[in-house]
Amino acid sequence: MTVFDLPDFRDHEQVVFASDAETGLKSIIAIHNTRRGPALGGCRIWPYENDGDVVMDALRLSRVMTYKSALAGLALGGGKAVIIADPRSEKTPALLRAFGRAVDQLAGRYITAEDVGTTVPDLEFVRLETPHVVGISEGGAGDPSPATAYGVFVGLQAAARRALGTPSLEGVRVGIQGLGAVGFGLAELLREAGARLTVADLRDSAVERAMRELDADPSDATRIHAADVDVYAPCALGGVLNDDTILEIRARVVAGSANNQLAEDRHGADLQARGILYAPDYAINAGGIINIGHESTRNAGRPYDRQRAFADVARIGDTLERIFDLADQEGVTTAIAADRLAEQRLLEDCPAAA
Ligand code: NAD
Repeated sequence: MTVFDLPDFRDHEQVVFASDAETGLKSIIAIHNTRRGPALGGCRIWPYENDGDVVMDALRLSRVMTYKSALAGLALGGGKAVIIADPRSEKTPALLRAFGRAVDQLAGRYITAEDVGTTVPDLEFVRLETPHVVGISEGGAGDPSPATAYGVFVGLQAAARRALGTPSLEGVRVGIQGLGAVGFGLAELLREAGARLTVADLRDSAVERAMRELDADPSDATRIHAADVDVYAPCALGGVLNDDTILEIRARVVAGSANNQLAEDRHGADLQARGILYAPDYAINAGGIINIGHESTRNAGRPYDRQRAFADVARIGDTLERIFDLADQEGVTTAIAADRLAEQRLLEDCPAAA
């Protein structure tokens, strides 16, 4: 079997292995699809232990970015970069600049951004070598998390309307797993809308803050999926919808920011069989990419405008409505419906700029 036969390879346009002896850079940049525009996707820095995992991660993550941007209607394609390094001990300005030079060689076919292991200040070093970077703080969109949290909030509202028949979130009980950059922001928005919160995090300080500031009830981090709530919002890890958890979920809606929530594709059908409405992860967590997508329009001469960007993020609610309708019409899971809508968008002509 060659790399071209890997299930995750699926029509990647270009995969670049970039290295730099002086700084020790070892990186893979995967460009999945540029039909709708340049391939945008974050740069993950992780101490991968074997080459197979690095390649699989780059391929899998870049393909999801194509679907995420297409579904969000952005004039962007999908890409992703990974750097093999420990972000705590091996991430240096020189390494980031070497990565920036590798990005620059792709002449704008790939645009990089923040991901696991990279921060907004890191991107400033990348930016010294290439203009093809978004999510920077000066004059740019900065940290994508507030936009992601807002998108999840709007999407959660749409899913609750559909499954619970509630026009507002007043009194709706939401269980949030993970109170990080996205989860805490989501908790604040939900509280403002009158929802009642149950929260879990591995960090006691985050839970205590939510109890103090948002009147949240604490839950055991290993049991939050089974909490007695209306909506379960996974905002920490992937793979949380699996053979063990699905049977214990009491919520009628799953709507959260975590990537790759379904442990396997078949778990989408298991949720459906239990009457639980699942808001597909890459549809509901697209707020960050929609926001930084606006930053890339600087290339078309327009400055970043937060208000316009957030108005676009709010359209995640409409996208989810369309996904739920299509799933009903075609008798498929919401995850399959999201893929079908994204694939349809990939075939459509796309405006030159988002
Ligand atoms: P973060 O690292 O800021 O927060 C994650 C939080 O989850 C931390 O507080 C951590 O302590 C907690 N956590 C980890 N394991 C846990 C467990 N088993 N139980 C309970 N809590 C646990 O990350 P983030 O930026 O808030 O992102 C959250 C999720 O959303 C991730 O899956 C991320 O990939 C996804 N996502 C984030 C963005 C974004 O804009 N930040 C965009 C799209 C998707």
